[in-house]
Amino acid sequence: MTETLIKVDLSKSPLENDMIHNRWHSDIPMVAKVKPGDDFILQCYDWTGGFIKNNDSADDIRDVDLTTVHYLSGPVEVEGAEPGDLLVVDFLDIGVLPGHEWGFNGFFSKTNGGGFLTDYFPSAQKSIWDIKGMFTSSRHIPGVNFAGLIHPGLIGCLPDPKMLADWNTREAALIATNPARVPGLANPPFAGTAHMGRMKGEARDAAAATGARTVPPREHGGNCDIKDLSRGARVYFPVYVKGAGLSVGDLHFSQGDGEITFCGAIEMPGFIHLGIHSLIKGGMAKYGVKNPIFKPSPIKPNYQDFLIFEGISVDDSGKQHYLDMFTAYQQACLNAINYLKKFGYSGAQAYSILGTAPVQGHISGIVDVPNACATLYLPTEIFDFDINPGADGPKPFNMNGIDMPISPDL
Ligand code: ZN
Repeated sequence: MTETLIKVDLSKSPLENDMIHNRWHSDIPMVAKVKPGDDFILQCYDWTGGFIKNNDSADDIRDVDLTTVHYLSGPVEVEGAEPGDLLVVDFLDIGVLPGHEWGFNGFFSKTNGGGFLTDYFPSAQKSIWDIKGMFTSSRHIPGVNFAGLIHPGLIGCLPDPKMLADWNTREAALIATNPARVPGLANPPFAGTAHMGRMKGEARDAAAATGARTVPPREHGGNCDIKDLSRGARVYFPVYVKGAGLSVGDLHFSQGDGEITFCGAIEMPGFIHLGIHSLIKGGMAKYGVKNPIFKPSPIKPNYQDFLIFEGISVDDSGKQHYLDMFTAYQQACLNAINYLKKFGYSGAQAYSILGTAPVQGHISGIVDVPNACATLYLPTEIFDFDINPGADGPKPFNMNGIDMPISPDL
């Protein structure tokens, strides 16, 4: 029987569990040991450690302390792994925990985290998604249901001390260019809410003061939020410390490319069944690998028909940006939102669909000066009604007055 190496008790705070941590640091002690050929299960909290509840208020999204995230399970030591190796990991399965068959999606207040379209949706909002096997739907967003492409938002190996110092130096330099910006340009280390796993005493306090926040993706992988890094994928992780130190969390039942809603995909606690396929000794140099590489799952939701929205790097004020993919993708998303509003959705509901459904984002053109072109692929088969354009115009779906909870700043 496959052993569950890390268990979580969702009725208790993750701070009480010493197999959980919420910072990256070279010295965080390993909590379990495996060897190539082993497979094992790790249970995970949702990324907020259970702060977001299954109810009809967005107050928790508004009030969440973002210095506490992400709660990760690990690190797991892999026998024989050494710096410079590639650790080959198979994602054998991912799923919900019994009794917790739901997830959440939301957007943060602009003053507490913000998000990709925070200027258009500045207040905290939330949708709850019920998970039935491989399908999901939301009582806050009628007329849509889909199969999830389940994946961990965040997984990677511990950084070595030099890499950690480089992260902190370069992110501090970015913050210094505009320290007052809301939301901030990056998130510096913050000892106050650091959970350093099994570290104790002065060593723990010193590491908490310099441990990197888990928010951005970095060279080791980390919070990449790649929907296709899903159940069935095989990943090649760079190793930086002896034993590798693999940690994982931020499980997503489903997510659109870009995780544009930021809080986040369909977020859930759950389990991940991992297999250590092998180690490629010296693989980073042999293959010129700096960031993880991966092979996709043999299965994915079989949606074949899409309505594809284009966006270019000219913002809503008419300002011309130079080959700016951020602006172009924003425009593609806003075009899709404005379109879905014609069928009866609120802007918030449409935004939430783009953040949760298996929506594809593509870099379509990035050389035709001055405009980058992004495309957003919206699967049409996830809707209970026809969203295609036609001569008769859009036929609004009956939403029964349902909308997502909203909690403006106090
Ligand atoms: Zn997430």
